[in-house]
Amino acid sequence: MVILSQISRLQINGDRLNDSINRLAKIGRTADGHICRLAFSPEDLQARNLVRRWMEEAGMSVHTDAAGNLIATYAGQVDGAPALATGSHIDTVPSGGPYDGVLGVLAGIEVVRVLRENNLRLNHPLEVIVFSDEENTMIGSRAMAGNLNLEEAISVADALSAAGGDWDTVTSAQRSRREIAAFVELHVEQGSVLESTRKQIGVVQGVVGMNRYAITINGYANHAGTTPMHLREDALIAAAQLVLAVQNLALEQPSQPVATVGKLNVTPNAANIVPGRVELTVDMRDLSQQVLDEMTLRLTQELGAIAQRTNTQIDITPILRVAPSPAADTIQATIQSVCQDLGLSYQMMPSRAGHDAMEMGRFTDMGMIFVPSEGGVSHSGEEYTSPEQCNQGANVLLNTLLRLDALYPCA
Ligand SMILES: [Zn+2]
Repeated sequence: MVILSQISRLQINGDRLNDSINRLAKIGRTADGHICRLAFSPEDLQARNLVRRWMEEAGMSVHTDAAGNLIATYAGQVDGAPALATGSHIDTVPSGGPYDGVLGVLAGIEVVRVLRENNLRLNHPLEVIVFSDEENTMIGSRAMAGNLNLEEAISVADALSAAGGDWDTVTSAQRSRREIAAFVELHVEQGSVLESTRKQIGVVQGVVGMNRYAITINGYANHAGTTPMHLREDALIAAAQLVLAVQNLALEQPSQPVATVGKLNVTPNAANIVPGRVELTVDMRDLSQQVLDEMTLRLTQELGAIAQRTNTQIDITPILRVAPSPAADTIQATIQSVCQDLGLSYQMMPSRAGHDAMEMGRFTDMGMIFVPSEGGVSHSGEEYTSPEQCNQGANVLLNTLLRLDALYPCA
């Protein structure tokens, strides 16, 4: 029988965790100090082999599913109980850093090392998962959630077999809540919220959803010298008003959503011609689908008003819609209470970047723990989270999993 006072004294071995991070960072290190470990590349496969060895040395049984996910299981005490799971990814962008994804995987292995050296097993089996190709197609977590976009993922179909996956049976990678009762991912923030609020831990409320639109404004291209101002149908004037309206759409909502016009093409784009046509994109993100829907409604109202004022025609087409993935209340509350008991300051916050946890949250209870990123820098060799911050995050992960083991039923 495991006694709670015993558990609360458990701590991860910070030196061992950071040694693992540094050793993995040697695989794919480029001359200019970045890390390039693209999914399914020889570097990614080499890193998978090393991580697999560490998983086995930690007493876990390891297998690869059809989507190339590396899944390690530390057996639990109760037969037939669903698993608790943690993990992240070890692939990087072309010029990535040592912590993005890696921290979540290696902290998960470190949790198991600590349990094992203390002769402890959870009631539930504990899985540590390395998801395939997080940075590009997210094929690993998407397949697990049964949310695979086959058209996007086909680009990696051939590469899958090198990682032990199998495109023909990729749908078999799908899991359910009966198999995984809860998933918790530790990740670097990749932003500067924690640094600016001077908080040690981010308790993630969910991964934001996204609505993206393509907008076309048609006016009339005409001579920039001879066309009087009041007779113009200037598509760029309409676009300029729209850019500011989009900014206001976000600012007027209390939940602090973000909205961006990031791309804008002007035709004919010549100094002596009144712009006749503008194509632009609007990208809006928030934790609440209701807020996203309301912003979309306000956007269409604004488009109508701007079209009337500027004598232009404006068309809007949805191009991407990703539903928000809220974190489970139980897991958020557990992470908060762990932070309080460990004396760590924390901040409730949304994740504004996509993560494997977003897909896991589509079928089971999900939670995320953030640790600070120096200067908010990520997807860069300059990415830095101190050893102490990594250890704090891993200790929160360890204690969160211990508490969830008591909270989630085994049958
Ligand atoms: Zn990541």
